[in-house]
Amino acid sequence: MIQQYYEWQYRIFSPKIPPTYHEVLMQYSSYYQDLSPELKKLFLKRLYILIKNIRFVSEKNMTVNTQMKVLIGSAIIQITFGLKRYLLSQFKTIFVAPRKYTYKGMKHFIAGDVNPRNKIISLSWESVQKGFSIDDDAVNIALHEITHSIDFENRDVFINFFNDNDWHSFEQLAQQKILEIQKNPNSYLGAYAGQNIFELFARSIEFFFEKSEDLQKNEPLLFEHLQKLLLQNPLNKKYPIPIN
Ligand SMILES: [Zn+2]
Repeated sequence: MIQQYYEWQYRIFSPKIPPTYHEVLMQYSSYYQDLSPELKKLFLKRLYILIKNIRFVSEKNMTVNTQMKVLIGSAIIQITFGLKRYLLSQFKTIFVAPRKYTYKGMKHFIAGDVNPRNKIISLSWESVQKGFSIDDDAVNIALHEITHSIDFENRDVFINFFNDNDWHSFEQLAQQKILEIQKNPNSYLGAYAGQNIFELFARSIEFFFEKSEDLQKNEPLLFEHLQKLLLQNPLNKKYPIPIN
C-alpha cells in the first residue's frame, strides 16, 4: 500500500517538517492545540505525508500557500486520526477558491463541494478559515466536504477507511435519524442533515468535533456510533486516540 511506502520513506529520511505546520495549527485548530505532545508529533507526520500526496490547485491569480495546505489537510488527518488509513486514493485534487463560489446554472454561492465524477474537492478558503476559527458552532466546511470524500471512497470495495460492521450499524442508525428529522425538521441535527445519508454523515461529523459534549448529551447513540466508526473520542481532548 502506498501509505506504508511513504511512512517507510519518512522513517528513513526523517524530513524536517516546516515550522509553519505547527504554527498554523496552533493558530487555527483547537483539535491540534489540545493534543498531547506525542500526538501532535503523529499529527504532523501524517499531515506531512498527506500534503505530499495531494495536488492543490486554484484560480490563475491565486497560489495555494502552505497555510492553506496545512489547514485543509488537517481536516483529513483529524477525521482519520483513529484510523489506519489517512491517504485518500481517489480524491487527490483539492481546488481552493479564495471565497464562496458558484457554478453555471446555480443560483447561490457555496463554501465547498465534492465532485464524485471528476474526484475533485473544492473549498472556499475564506470559509475554511472561518470554520476552524469558530470551533464550537458545528459549522466547518472542510470537515464537512472531506467527510463526503471519505464516504465516497469508502463505498469502493477496495478502499476501507472504516470497519464494515461499524459502518453498517452506523448506516442503520443514520437511516432512522433521517426519518426522525424528516418528521421533525426542528430536531437537534437540523433539517439539512435529514436530506440523505451523505448529509447526515457530514453534518454529524461537524457536530462530533465541534459540539462533542452537546452531541453526546442530545444524541448519545449517534455519538457512540461515530466514536466506534472513527475510533476516537474527541471528549478526551489530549488523547482522543489511545497511544501505543
Ligand atoms: Zn454536504
